[in-house]
Amino acid sequence: MLEKIVIANRGEIALRILRACRESGIKTVAIYSEVDRDQKHVFLADESVCIGPSASSESYLNIPAVISAAEVTDAVAIHPGYGFLSENADFAERVEQSGFIFIGPKAETIRLMGDKVSAIFAMKKAGIPCVPGSEGPLGDNPDENFRIARDIGYPVIIKAAGGGGGRGMRVVHSEASLRNAISITRSEAKTAFDNDAVYMEKYLSHPRHIEVQVLADQHGNVISLGERDCSMQRRHQKVIEEAPATGIHRKIRRTISERCVSACRQIGYRSAGTFEFLYQDEQFYFIEMNTRIQVEHPVTEMVTGIDIIREQLRIASGEKLSYRQDDVQIRGHAIECRINAEDPETFMPSPGTIEHYHPPGGLGVRVDTHIYGGYKVPPHYDSMIGKLIVHGDTRELALSRMSMALSEIVIEGIKTNIPLHQKLVHDSAYISGGTDIHYLENKLGLK
Ligand code: ADP
Repeated sequence: MLEKIVIANRGEIALRILRACRESGIKTVAIYSEVDRDQKHVFLADESVCIGPSASSESYLNIPAVISAAEVTDAVAIHPGYGFLSENADFAERVEQSGFIFIGPKAETIRLMGDKVSAIFAMKKAGIPCVPGSEGPLGDNPDENFRIARDIGYPVIIKAAGGGGGRGMRVVHSEASLRNAISITRSEAKTAFDNDAVYMEKYLSHPRHIEVQVLADQHGNVISLGERDCSMQRRHQKVIEEAPATGIHRKIRRTISERCVSACRQIGYRSAGTFEFLYQDEQFYFIEMNTRIQVEHPVTEMVTGIDIIREQLRIASGEKLSYRQDDVQIRGHAIECRINAEDPETFMPSPGTIEHYHPPGGLGVRVDTHIYGGYKVPPHYDSMIGKLIVHGDTRELALSRMSMALSEIVIEGIKTNIPLHQKLVHDSAYISGGTDIHYLENKLGLK
């Protein structure tokens, strides 16, 4: 096993990685920005290094600073978590060139999948079904773009090849607004992702977001841990996730999982990864692959009993996966609510000091969070402050357990989206299952 690793992240995921390391006897180095000195994982880590000012561009995104933290502490590997540098192929490459292990896929895989256009090409080649769309990036010839859109059929969606985090997308309902939409998305993509390549896809009217979790070691072993349903979204950002996906026949779910496993073999995938699909009228359409651990990984852990971060650590150290496909059994149902420091009505971020914190508990209740009473939520980063995850033998039980846990949790001093979750777990359509990606925004009257 790895001796010592740098956790190149903050918040709940840094704590989650730290716990997996401690269980495996791996020493940890926490890195933190000036405003993050009082992070829980910084207190718990074996060593810690301040890597710069609060702005993430000067700390968590500062590649030389992160790598030098590994150098000065004699660490052997770096775990990037999610967000920040986790899908930055240049970072992965420089980590390995500096003699450290990057806990994730090879840099070339991150690069291939980081460009959505090349990812779609690779997936089509590997037999994965994709959304009907332009073959490759759009050019500057308006007539050609009109033709592509007509062939696909309106509405279409213009997407940035380098996009992520729900940004860089624009829906177009008719020819009149196509040209403008392409040029706006292009210039936004240039500014946000330093890549002005855009492509076009059919805009699906009522899909669900279903994704498949995979694990691959360096010995050619690949397994699928089944799927998650992440359809409850606002502004293309997930709010609630669950596993397994309700109302989809087992055979269909198994087939898509098998295809993902086979695609991993074809592209030589390594570590944990997620294939994201839209699912409509019993068809799966690939949209992108995330080459990192995801926020919602705990729901899969709860239904499989497999510690995904621990497997990532094993894979990085060159060990074989601890499980074969036949060992993976989906048991019961798990649901995760993302807890954000934000106004539940306006969604404005709500940083500040947490005066009181009382976590919920009991059988099948898991809280992944770095907050504690007196902790100050800084305004500089993502507003997610934790995740409430429940597991039950059935979806019905998981839902009532979530309702109970939400009624028990107390976070005072800042505003959170807990009231929104309380509403959603009692929503009749959500309870019935199978709501699509537009459901939440429609319900909130945002559309
Ligand atoms: P990102 O990398 O920014 O997360 P994705 O390609 O994964 O972008 O898409 C994020 C979300 O945007 C999806 O979960 C879905 O809600 C919506 N979306 C993306 N592509 C389409 C499409 N072709 N039709 C309808 N909705 C889409």
